Amino acid sequence: MKAIEVNGLNKKFITGKEEAHILKNLTFSVEQGEFVSIMGPSGSGKSTLLYLLGGLDKPSSGTIKLDGKDLSSFKKKAMSKLRRTKIGFVFQFYNLVQNLNVEDNILLPIILDGKNPKQYEKKLKEILEVIGLADKRKLTPRELSGGQQQRVAIARALIAEPDIIFLDEPIGNLDSKTGKEIMELFRTINVTYKKTLIQVTHSNNAALYGTSIIRLVDGEIVEHSEIALAAMDSSCPA
Ligand code: ADP
Ligand code: MG
Repeated sequence: MKAIEVNGLNKKFITGKEEAHILKNLTFSVEQGEFVSIMGPSGSGKSTLLYLLGGLDKPSSGTIKLDGKDLSSFKKKAMSKLRRTKIGFVFQFYNLVQNLNVEDNILLPIILDGKNPKQYEKKLKEILEVIGLADKRKLTPRELSGGQQQRVAIARALIAEPDIIFLDEPIGNLDSKTGKEIMELFRTINVTYKKTLIQVTHSNNAALYGTSIIRLVDGEIVEHSEIALAAMDSSCPA
């Protein structure tokens, strides 16, 4: 089954009298378990595409299917539910809640979904181990480094066990050593936990952690190719 199927996707933004055609007739698909790197110049529509795929915004025309289900068939409530349970998002600036500690930030999607966070204690412990912050669960974001904050955001994206995780420039705010560590964590999440990952990135090195590349220029796909295993040499720097 395909994780994502996009057909004839267009996105236009209308501001005042101006209409900007940002995504132009995109058609592509992503297999389950893929790790896709969306690349392209600034302003080429990468984030716009990511937000459409994750249901944060709506297409002007065309269809997006996640796990075979057309996103346009979801009513508002079902869409919010989908976003809390089937999809995870990780952003460049982490987007953590500053007055909540690490564990409450991670459990936020669970709480917002109306579930009892106590039932997630085992899962929480497991995820804290995976991200390497088991001893930091009571700290608040401002007591953590950038890399640690991004790890918390990653844990929050994982807690509801989504199938697909969307990453928008996830290492864009980190130094290269920390960025590399975070990219290795994503590789683990892709390979060991079998999550489909879609990342937007400026960095060639970060892109090479993926299994395929989609290159956008001016809202059009100019390349969609698999990344050769040889390029995934573990020595590649982030
Ligand atoms: P990228 O992530 O590739 O840098 P974006 O997808 O953020 O590019 O933006 C692509 C273009 O769409 C830019 O010209 C941007 O100004 C425009 N754009 C993005 N979001 C909106 C919006 N909500 N309203 C109007 N224009 C937007
Ligand atoms: Mg962007």
